[in-house]
Amino acid sequence: MRVPDAPLDMTEFSERVEQVSISGIREVFEAAGDDAINLGLGQPDFPTPSHARDAACEAINEGVADAYTSNKGTLSLREAIAHRYDVDWGIDVDPEHVIATAGGSEALHIALEAHVDPGETVLFPDPGFVSYDALTRIAGGTPTPLALRDDLTLDPATVEEAITEDTAAFVVNSPANPTGAVQSEADMREFARIADEHDVLCISDEVYEHIVFDGEHHSPLKYAETDNVVAISACSKTYSMTGWRLGWVTGSNRRIERMLRVHQYGQACASAPSQYAAEAALNGPREPVDEMVSAFEERRDLVLDELTDMGLEVPTPEGAFYAMPKVPDGWVDEVIDRGVVVVPGDAFGERGAGYARISYATGMEELEDALDVMREATRAI
Ligand code: PMP
Repeated sequence: MRVPDAPLDMTEFSERVEQVSISGIREVFEAAGDDAINLGLGQPDFPTPSHARDAACEAINEGVADAYTSNKGTLSLREAIAHRYDVDWGIDVDPEHVIATAGGSEALHIALEAHVDPGETVLFPDPGFVSYDALTRIAGGTPTPLALRDDLTLDPATVEEAITEDTAAFVVNSPANPTGAVQSEADMREFARIADEHDVLCISDEVYEHIVFDGEHHSPLKYAETDNVVAISACSKTYSMTGWRLGWVTGSNRRIERMLRVHQYGQACASAPSQYAAEAALNGPREPVDEMVSAFEERRDLVLDELTDMGLEVPTPEGAFYAMPKVPDGWVDEVIDRGVVVVPGDAFGERGAGYARISYATGMEELEDALDVMREATRAI
């Protein structure tokens, strides 16, 4: 029997969910042919390091990954995460103040759920990662997208001016998706000061923390004097582990305790085999990360040179694996019609209009072919 469609005014879906639609990026993939070169993906084209895979297999075969772990994740994984904060960024993190999550996505979700009340606003970069808007709405909050500087970084002054009595949180994302922009140390100090002085939560999305070519990654976690910063990261990008779904959030005890309530009922714990893989990735040799970052840098240089040579204006992406050139009207469609998938900038917010996001997480040869196509498309319009 066919389930009848209900008339719209009889919908029983929540208003929060009715406000959210499936990401515009998918539509672009569907528009492209099967043999298209896909520069639309937010996923590294490298294998997960073998020691991480092996650790998961071992845990499975030895039967230690069969059961729930502690809600926060295994202590040894949380120790490995805390150790990296210490070694990589000189930040002292208590393993008890970490929750292992189903990717950075769940970490963002529980951070917003735990801190945003209906009617409160959340500030975030525009163009910015698509989840900030959607997860704010799902938490019952009101999204407030913020304009970026010409170099596509977020000006702390813009955040400070936008804060009102109703602001629950602001999101900082460096290195950023979709822009590749990296915030300076001075900016991060300012974000920490703003969180402290205005008593507003700063959610720092650092999933690309290790993929930086120019300058260095800085976390506002290091500079805050209050507990008003929570940091989010994941194995997804750093260790090419998007499919393993393993991320985390760290913050003060009282914040972790609130986020854990959401995580406990929504997730119970992150997947146990993935926790073992993540621990091995975090504690293992750094060469796979270094090799991947060098490859991304080489590709970044190529993409930047070629796009500039075509006459496009491209703010220099200093991290992640995206470039975001300003493009003429019709450019994205022309490129897609010629068999290369790029994402229109307005998929990341209204102010992304007139830009395109190009992911260079793809092999050099394919990238060169795709750039030839972009050159032809640029000439044609
Ligand atoms: N934050 C940003 C900025 C991202 O680009 C992504 C993934 N595209 C995420 C968070 C979520 O990462 P994960 O795959 O670990 O859920």
